[in-house]
Formats: sequence, C-alpha cells, structure tokens
Amino acid sequence: MTLTEKILARASGKAHVAPGDNVWVNVDILMTHDVCGPGTIGVFKREFGKTAKVWDKSKVVIIPDHYIFTADSMSNRNVDILRDFVNEQELPYFYDVIDDPNGHWHFDASRGQLKKQYGSHFTGVCHTTLPWKGHTRPGEILFGTDSHTCMAGAFNQFATGIGNTDAGFILGTGKLLIKVPETMRFYLEGEMSPGVMAKDVILHVIGDIGFDGATYRAMQWEGLGVHTMSMDDRMTIANMAIEAGGKNGIFPYDEKTGDYVRDRVRENGTKSEFEPVEVDAEQSFIYDKTFDLSKLEPTVAMHPDPGNRELAKNLGDVKLDRAYIGSCTGGKTSDFLAFAEVIRGKSVKIDTFGVPATTKVVAELKETQWDGKSVWDILEGAGVRMTENASCAACLGGPVDTFGRMNTPMNCISATNRNFPGRMGHKESRVFLASPYTVAASALTGHITDPREFVS
Ligand code: SF4
Repeated sequence: MTLTEKILARASGKAHVAPGDNVWVNVDILMTHDVCGPGTIGVFKREFGKTAKVWDKSKVVIIPDHYIFTADSMSNRNVDILRDFVNEQELPYFYDVIDDPNGHWHFDASRGQLKKQYGSHFTGVCHTTLPWKGHTRPGEILFGTDSHTCMAGAFNQFATGIGNTDAGFILGTGKLLIKVPETMRFYLEGEMSPGVMAKDVILHVIGDIGFDGATYRAMQWEGLGVHTMSMDDRMTIANMAIEAGGKNGIFPYDEKTGDYVRDRVRENGTKSEFEPVEVDAEQSFIYDKTFDLSKLEPTVAMHPDPGNRELAKNLGDVKLDRAYIGSCTGGKTSDFLAFAEVIRGKSVKIDTFGVPATTKVVAELKETQWDGKSVWDILEGAGVRMTENASCAACLGGPVDTFGRMNTPMNCISATNRNFPGRMGHKESRVFLASPYTVAASALTGHITDPREFVS
C-alpha cells in the first residue's frame, strides 16, 4: 500500500484498502477557523441538537486567522461566535485574538495595520499554527475546513480540507466516510541549486501536471531529494497539493520529522505518542515520475492559475506594481530569512508587503540579528511594509481594509499559493506566484527577476 492507503486502512480498522474504496475513518484532529467555524458550528447544532457536546474536546482545534485585522463587523463577530462555542464546550485548543474569554473582538482601525493588536494566545495562520502548537503527528488523520490543510502531509499524516457539513458531522461523531484516493508518486533526486527553493519545486511540478492534474489523488513525495529538505520545505510542497487538485500531499517519515514533532508536542504538552507509516517496497501508483532537483530553476506560476508555468528568467518584461510575502506557504521564518538575504542592504522599488504567518515568526524575525541589526529592522529599512499582525491578510483578498489587499487592477508577485482571478482582491489584478527569493529580487527591480543575480 502507499502511505495514504496505509493511514486510511489503519484509521478505518482494515488490514488493506485500495483506491476507490469508501471507508469510515476515525479522526485524530479537526481544525476550523473564523471563516468556516461559525458554519460548522451551525451544522453541528442543527444536526446533533442545541445542547450536543463535541465527540472529543482534545481533538478539536480552533484558530481564528483569516479575516481578523479588519474593521468589518461581521468578520469580527465570527471570532466571537468561535469564542462562545469554545466556552460552551470547554475546548482547550483555541488560539483567540483577545485574552478575555468573555470579551468581544474589535479591530481598532485608528491604530493602523502595522502594530500588533492581539493578546497572548493568538498565533496566526492555522496551517502554520498546527505544527508549531503540537497538533500534527505522523500516521494520523487531520481534517480541516480549509483547502490548504494538506500542508500537514509534510509530517507523514493524512491531512485534507473538508466542507462545513463534513466538519459538523465530525464534531458530533469523530468519523468521516472517505474514498481512498489513487496515489501519484513524485520521486526527487539531487539537491536544489543556490537560488532555487521548495516553492520552485512545487511550481515546476504543478506546471508539469496542470492545476487539475492531481484531482482527488494523493501526491506522495519520495527519494533522496526529500530527505535533504527541511520540514519548512516539505510544508511548502505539501501545502500546494491542492493547487493541482490533490486530495492530499504526503511525505515519508524520517528523523527530521520525528525530531520536529517530538519537540513541538513536548513544548505544548499535546499528545506525544504517534506511529509513522513507512514506505512499502510494493506500491501501486497511477503516475510515477522522477525529478532531478539540481536541474530546476527559479519558476513562476503566471496569472491566471498555479499551473501556468514559466521560468523567472524569461519574464523580465513583466512589470510589477506590488510584491507580497506571507501566508502559510510563504510566510514562515525560513521564507522571510531567504527574502531578507536578497533584500538586505538594498531598497525595494515597488510597494512591498510582509505578513508573517504566525506571531512566532514575528518574534523570530525581531530576535534574529545580522550584523547587529534585527532582520525585521533590515526589512523595514529596505522599505518593506512589515505588519506584526500575523494572519492570512491579503492572501485571500479579504475585506477592503485588509493589509496588502489589491483594491485596484495591478500586477503582483507573491510568495502565496493561489492566483486565480480575484484571489488577492481586485478581479482584474494579476498575481504571479514565486519563491521568496524571486519575490525579493523582483521587489528590488520592479519587474519579474531571476533571483540568482542576487544569490551567490
Ligand atoms: S494564508 Fe492563504 S492559503 Fe493559507 S490558510 Fe490563509 S488564506 Fe488560506
């Protein structure tokens, strides 16, 4: 069996499953956020009763992250709905924006977008919070009401996005009926060259198979190339399985995975036992292809979809109005450090927005010193508009006052993961997806730029 089949077989109590089987699986973690949480709670209450209790308090994780730092009252109210539910159900894992469990969230626009407006429990983007706070474990099943839940496949688990109806059902029962997907194998050899990042790998692969090339399939990553990658790299790749239509992305377990997970569960006091799934000698794939990482070059997904691939070096004539670094895919500390490596000592030529994925990223960028200056200060000094309000921000457009949102038609190069029309705001804007290196180099020149000119 493939990694995905092995996890689904175990979670459904079967010795063997095959693609196309429909199986009831026991859920290890259900995550929801401010956009889908209120709807999920509504379904749960309608179907299981107003006084129903969730199936297992320790397995529900609620993370407000999408439409947070906005004066939009309906968005603010969504966070209050989550808090009321958490109080009613006595849920332990709620990363609230405010500290007062009986308070109301209200974003104060008069204080601006840059300085922090959150309490001590707030974390930021859900998919980056889950591993940080010790909720991702090898061999487990994670469902989330968000399509990029597949990011947790980096940790050798089955992780995928679901709708509010399924999530409401899980809240009541802890189970879900799921069809076993076929598996595509992406075998990585070699090492990435300087100037090339994990984002280039996934953009290259999606360009190969198309933005619907993995529809309802598992994308399994294997090969020596995988083991040279950091956990952040693996997260970037697993995150974008959905941009090829994938059901999930999944990586083999190795010592890096084990060390990362053990550290996080220890730090947070979450469940420490886990049982990884190993790669079988006998596996059946619907697709199997080898990629040599050393041959890949900085890659861009052009408007209007993540499969519209071109090399950065061929796009020098594309003029840009904006650069954006942030999101679950591209807003991790390692992403910002790569970005800063290029920007350092220079000035950006176009409006450039930086949105850390989590509050931990904010802290790490302020703590990391290069030549006596924090990385945060280096970026601000280069003209990057850095916000402490870690969240999804303009990755998903959001209400009109969202930091970095494109409210007029423009060209933007972005370290985010999705570029369908209107994704980051105005429906006539054009978003070019790229690695943090490429976004940084392009921010310095004002047109799409191969970062190898700046990276030694
Ligand atoms: S950062 Fe973007 S892709 Fe990630 S969860 Fe938020 S809106 Fe979705």
